Amino acid sequence: MADCIFCMIAEGKIPSSKVFESDTVYAFLDLNPVHKGHTLIIPKKHAKDLLRLPPELGRDIVEAMQNVGRAVMEATGADGFNVIQNNGRAAGQEVEHVHWHIIPRFDGDGLAFWAQTKYESMDAMNAMAAQIRARLV
Ligand code: 5GP
Ligand code: ZN
Repeated sequence: MADCIFCMIAEGKIPSSKVFESDTVYAFLDLNPVHKGHTLIIPKKHAKDLLRLPPELGRDIVEAMQNVGRAVMEATGADGFNVIQNNGRAAGQEVEHVHWHIIPRFDGDGLAFWAQTKYESMDAMNAMAAQIRARLV
């Protein structure tokens, strides 16, 4: 898509530190890493967010996450890694071309991504589950 920075990266029109490439997927280092080795995985074909991603690309994305995740851990000496994928501004999505963050993590690095809360009751929790179930297609 014209004016999409990640489309331009996948097409080689903007330079990037490439980590992985297949017919459908491209992976490159994040310019502002949480930890060095922080990698972004994108489909080459533009999709704004996860809801717009053709599901048949899911397998290619998961294979890339496994391959890149293991390689990032080995290259950085990380003890684990997070896969993070933001949808919409409220969720922190800045670039509107769907992408998965592969973030290497180290024992005791102290990073925390969210604070958790509690439901008022089991009934309230079950009601929430029912509301979600009712909207599935
Ligand atoms: P988001 O907040 O949308 O989930 O993440 C977008 C990520 O893309 C950010 O972590 C940001 O550092 C990274 N980013 C934005 N522009 C560029 C760029 O031109 N090149 C690279 N390598 N990373 C970028
Ligand atoms: Zn794009």
